[in-house]
Amino acid sequence: MEGAISRAAAEELDAADPLAEFRGRFVVTDPELIYLDGNSLGRLPAATSERLREVVEEGWGGGLVRSWQDWIDWGSRLGDRLAEHVLGARPGEVVISDSTSVNLYKLAGAALDAAPGRNTVLIDAEDFPTNRYVLQGLADQRGLRLRRLASDLDGGLDLDVLRSALDRDVALVVLSSVSYRSGALSDMATVNELARAVGAKVLWDLSHAAGAVPLDLTATGAELAVGCTYKYLNGGPGSPAFLYVRRELQTVLRQPVWGWYGQREQFRMGPDYDPVPGIERFLVSTPPLLSLAAIEPALDLVEQAGVARIRAKGLLLSRLADDLAQAWLTPLGFRAASPRTPERRGSHVALYHPDAWQICQALAEDAKVVCDYRVPDRLRIGPSPLYTRFTEVWDALDRVRRIAAEPTYDSRPADLARVT
Ligand SMILES: *Cc1c(COP(=O)(O)O)cnc(C)c1O
Repeated sequence: MEGAISRAAAEELDAADPLAEFRGRFVVTDPELIYLDGNSLGRLPAATSERLREVVEEGWGGGLVRSWQDWIDWGSRLGDRLAEHVLGARPGEVVISDSTSVNLYKLAGAALDAAPGRNTVLIDAEDFPTNRYVLQGLADQRGLRLRRLASDLDGGLDLDVLRSALDRDVALVVLSSVSYRSGALSDMATVNELARAVGAKVLWDLSHAAGAVPLDLTATGAELAVGCTYKYLNGGPGSPAFLYVRRELQTVLRQPVWGWYGQREQFRMGPDYDPVPGIERFLVSTPPLLSLAAIEPALDLVEQAGVARIRAKGLLLSRLADDLAQAWLTPLGFRAASPRTPERRGSHVALYHPDAWQICQALAEDAKVVCDYRVPDRLRIGPSPLYTRFTEVWDALDRVRRIAAEPTYDSRPADLARVT
């Protein structure tokens, strides 16, 4: 009666898991709680609190302003580590700063300024809202045409749709490498190639990919990218984002927010803006040091585990979730809302159910399963390979099956909460 796989088999997967010890390096205050929302906010690494205490008490409390001698280049230093271990980029191509939305604005603005005479911007109509809104704003301000490419809610953007939209009027294409809703994975190398053939730039949003799937920005010919550090990278709520600009492009581009952190000889405080030639020209302002500091212990864990091993486990975790959902949940009105082949998706899977929102609430309140809901009717199950166990996925799907079979879940409010 247990469907695709027994709990004992999930226990065996845990026993054979080469990353099993990493769970102990995160804070788990309630072992009963099954946390499957690491793709929204990663867990707190055990080393982070002590590290922050040091930075607060010794750096800020003791060192005061003198600590900036050390702090000043942390964004670049951590950017280089991210480049090497997570993004497949070269030193001097990645920096941590601002938020994903703001970095998207900066890099999209820079790319548009560098493409006079081209009047079209392409986006995925189903992309994460901030990406659509930022590009809507930029297109509106510049009188450009924003084309929203129709894409499949579950399968992602079809390459043929993109191919037929690309022409010499396209300045910029903005896409997510892993779709926030379905988890569908883009073929970055092919997209970059198609865009390059018509002289368009591609700006990638790597928020749901960084730290979950292997990325090779160099080999795939990527030119521009941004992404979060608080999802699979576990940098903490609102931790600053990263941006990537391929080396060859850095001096050609100039971003629209001319802050002093991009300035040559910043402390000479010269009369006119004259940006440095390197990646720091995409910086704007004084970094939020405490949030930046929290990224380091988180990155230690990702580096030690290695993205290849994280991905290998992620494939098994999402396959387990998908198999169990097929066996147990399809009879209860669910349907897979992600690509069915594990290699075609990131680390999370989405399930369609007409009452997904109410089921999601009941899971959190009555079954100690935290996953999330995304409009219009999707439940997202986001195991994070560094700390999610196979038995947790098994137990969570078992609890979804119980809740979904209970008629009481529909007593929950149908109106969305402020945060979902
Ligand atoms: C989470 C996420 C963001 C978040 O942007 P913020 O500026 O940090 O709020 C942006 N893009 C995508 C694709 C995301 O998944």
